[in-house]
Amino acid sequence: MERFIYLDHAATTAARKEVVEAMLPYFTEQFGNPSSVYGFAAKNKIAIQKVREKIADSLGAKKEEIYFTAGGSESDNWALKSIVEMYRGKGNHIITTKVEHHAILHTCKYLEEQGVEVTYLNVDENGLIRLEELRAAIRPTTILISIMFANNEIGTIEPIKEIGAIAKEKGILFHTDAVQAYGQVPIQVDEMQIDLLSASGHKLNGPKGIGFLYVRNGVRIGSLIHGGAQERHRRAGTENVPGIIGLGKAVELAVADMEERSERIQKVRDKAIARILKEIPYVRLNGDRKKRLPNNINISIQFIEGESLLIMLDMKGICASSGSACTSGSLDPSHVLLAIGLPHEIAHGSLRMTLGEENTEEEMDFVVDSIKEIVEKLRAMSPLYEDFVKQNRR
Ligand SMILES: *Cc1c(COP(=O)(O)O)cnc(C)c1O
Repeated sequence: MERFIYLDHAATTAARKEVVEAMLPYFTEQFGNPSSVYGFAAKNKIAIQKVREKIADSLGAKKEEIYFTAGGSESDNWALKSIVEMYRGKGNHIITTKVEHHAILHTCKYLEEQGVEVTYLNVDENGLIRLEELRAAIRPTTILISIMFANNEIGTIEPIKEIGAIAKEKGILFHTDAVQAYGQVPIQVDEMQIDLLSASGHKLNGPKGIGFLYVRNGVRIGSLIHGGAQERHRRAGTENVPGIIGLGKAVELAVADMEERSERIQKVRDKAIARILKEIPYVRLNGDRKKRLPNNINISIQFIEGESLLIMLDMKGICASSGSACTSGSLDPSHVLLAIGLPHEIAHGSLRMTLGEENTEEEMDFVVDSIKEIVEKLRAMSPLYEDFVKQNRR
């Protein structure tokens, strides 16, 4: 039988059956516009509010602090652009990191073109920011700190609570891109002093094209889309009712067994990591060993090309991702791997595998066996490896 092993949950996940089932009636029988006054449609307004409440509860937030968006990228764009616009009077400096998702980095580049000053913090060899460097970067004109909760490539979880405390102490707003973390690790916006937070449905077994932005009460956020009164006048347009319902179901399911599920996934993950490091020579694990998302494996394998490995894994029915951005038309290795100090040639031989709850130990054994076999094959064809082995023999 053909195998299909999906190990790219950081890229996207399948919507759970319950999610799709919850959504279906809202395409057909319950199609009403939530803004209409008759009871048939008003029911949908109530259904949406319930999802808002559910999401707010999951974060220890209030329901009016949740704004539905079309996903993580939109939430990130909105947060950054709007804070810059609304707090112009206070200053024009924002602080972020070199390892953010492109939804943040490219928004920052755009803002720089508009005259905003941006500091991109370095990270250490495990991808963690240094709190002293953050403190030192703060200026009287700093209006926003935007630092991701967990990294989408190497899984490193940043010291969010400590960052929140520094932001609070200095009177600076704190936004976090929690797209990878939300639903995998506990997040409490008050305890962590988070002012704005981005999340996305399709990264937690919900539908694509739906997400939310949390905005703490009292934080001034401008309108993203002008028009109707939806989302407290801040994001006009008839709500994506099926999407919101699906997101609500996904959040409910993700939160219900988060601890257990994360533990289970982590166990399978850790066993695979241990085997890889033990059985394949010249491999390193990227990202922090402990402060790490439970489902992330990111390794660099010397003397091979990540792209070749990916293609050969694909032939065995294994879906994973590499550390380079070749697919996006560029040959540059990932900015994250370069930021943690990997030389180009090592970064090029990188592989990211992000697990989901359906991945079993048995599957991961097959995956590790496959990587071993492919790496041996690729190295046998590598003149670099041949030279290296010869030199080491001498
Ligand atoms: C996937 C991802 C995004 C983008 O989310 P979309 O819903 O696909 O727009 C943003 N940030 C991080 C960290 C992500 O992993």
